[in-house]
Amino acid sequence: PTPGELLLDVRSVRKQFGGLVAVNDVSFSIRAGEIIGLLGPNGAGKSTTFNLITGVLPLSSGDVMFRGAKVSGQPSREIARRGMSRTFQHVKMLPEMTVLENVALGGYTRSHAGVMQAVLRLDREEERRLFLEAERQLERIGMKDQIHELAGNLALGPARLMEIARALCTDPALLLLDEPAAGLRHKEKQALGQVLRQLKAEGMSILLVEHDMEFVMSLTDRIVVMEFGTKLIEGTPAEVQASPAVRAAYLGT
Ligand code: ADP
Ligand code: MG
Repeated sequence: PTPGELLLDVRSVRKQFGGLVAVNDVSFSIRAGEIIGLLGPNGAGKSTTFNLITGVLPLSSGDVMFRGAKVSGQPSREIARRGMSRTFQHVKMLPEMTVLENVALGGYTRSHAGVMQAVLRLDREEERRLFLEAERQLERIGMKDQIHELAGNLALGPARLMEIARALCTDPALLLLDEPAAGLRHKEKQALGQVLRQLKAEGMSILLVEHDMEFVMSLTDRIVVMEFGTKLIEGTPAEVQASPAVRAAYLGT
């Protein structure tokens, strides 16, 4: 994407689960090169919004446009193929496999036996390409020294980075991260922040879902704040921090 290009346009998306409106008419957009934060207390509708964008959940109404084309209604695999790559709120890994194997093959399968089958199905050239790309992305995020460690032995911080490396392997135009800083220690948060700043400097566009206000403030160009399924405010970190509505809803002050 060219810098400044309109990448993602979320238009009045709505999601209802029975009688509960989890996401109510939420709109925002992301331009190439931006880090946008989606902030809000637990239950605000952040993950649901994320799942609507990535096609994991069908919308009740509204549209999601990605790089000028309507992607809402398309299967998540097709949306991913067009250049959206995501991580999940809970780390998904094969603990008995190495970090490198998890990044190279983890996207294909969810079981140890499945990995073996996946390897057998790949031709040598394809396998070589996957492993080279995995190694390249792990180096990119500073995990070169850990590629042969068992994934199950990683602390949470490096495990989250491993997931980001995996998401980067498909060369996405937009990276979507669901609460990557949740549960991390201060040092790990700093390391993650450093990686995200570096990716931005390299031109990556990122949608960052977080409820850690401080972390979001320090990293993003703009923030969309959600409360009870609706968009409360959108603005720069400074504008959001100064907003009485946000302070009331979010900080309870
Ligand atoms: P957040 O990620 O901001 O914490 P969620 O998007 O996970 O919030 O949830 C928003 C609301 O939707 C919550 O009230 C939650 O209980 C509800 N919700 C989320 N997923 C489902 C579902 N699959 N079925 C029913 N209710 C759901
Ligand atoms: Mg969530």
